[in-house]
Amino acid sequence: MYNCELSKKHQPEGSQMSEPKNRIEEQGRAWWFLIAHQKILIQDNSDMVPYARISALNLPIEILANKIKIGEYQSHPCYLIEGVDASIIDFGSYEDAHILLGKVDSDLFNMVGRALQVSLFYQTHQYCGQCGEKTYRIEEEIACQCEQCLHRSYPRISPCIIVAIRKKNEILLALHQRHYKNNDAIYTVLAGFAEAGETLENCLKREVYEEVGIKVKNIRYIRSQPWPFPHSLMMAYIAEYDSGDICIDKNEIYSAAWYHIDNLPVLPNKGTVARELIHQVSVECASC
Ligand SMILES: [Zn+2]
Repeated sequence: MYNCELSKKHQPEGSQMSEPKNRIEEQGRAWWFLIAHQKILIQDNSDMVPYARISALNLPIEILANKIKIGEYQSHPCYLIEGVDASIIDFGSYEDAHILLGKVDSDLFNMVGRALQVSLFYQTHQYCGQCGEKTYRIEEEIACQCEQCLHRSYPRISPCIIVAIRKKNEILLALHQRHYKNNDAIYTVLAGFAEAGETLENCLKREVYEEVGIKVKNIRYIRSQPWPFPHSLMMAYIAEYDSGDICIDKNEIYSAAWYHIDNLPVLPNKGTVARELIHQVSVECASC
């Protein structure tokens, strides 16, 4: 298990700060997910969130008292702490969670995603969507309830399909406009959000047809991946080409083409389900 000693730079001296510290129940080590502005606090000189006793955080008691348990990782509790100013933290810095992809295992990455999503949920549900009154946080579950009309809200999760399309020994990969405009020439599989009242299978067929103008068949579910940017749940599939010629939606796609599995362009990072799908198609082609 990862272990760490946090900096003692701001260790309280004398009785002035020791009194409030004593009021926080000292427990074993825990994982600390500090979130501010949709970034995660990563410990200095590591690719890891802090794992420490609560006293080692050296944070004010009023901040520690608002910690929220969001789960467990490696049999140790995981706590979310929101909105702590970076200037009072001496053991790490806030970073984009993308940098942890492929560097931490999927269980920890998913817990980082949960922390980001729960934090965003609380930030965006301070008022009731039904009557506009103030809401309060429910203690027994992650939810906000209206003081006036009792309308209860839960974290928003947006289902999204992601699909690798195979044609013999080729795979369809696209350069999306958002990557092209960011000078990030990554070629990847297709993805899109499910609409209200739509099955995932119909969503997949619709998205593929809208984005590249082809029809697919033999749709196989592979696995899912929570994607907290900001609150997607990716459902990953592999499908076979059925009919049609590539005709791209230029609002979404800059270019798309069939690529032989032995000659692939720049791909998404490891740790993404997109990269995993492309790898799986390659393996299946090689075994034919
Ligand atoms: Zn209300």
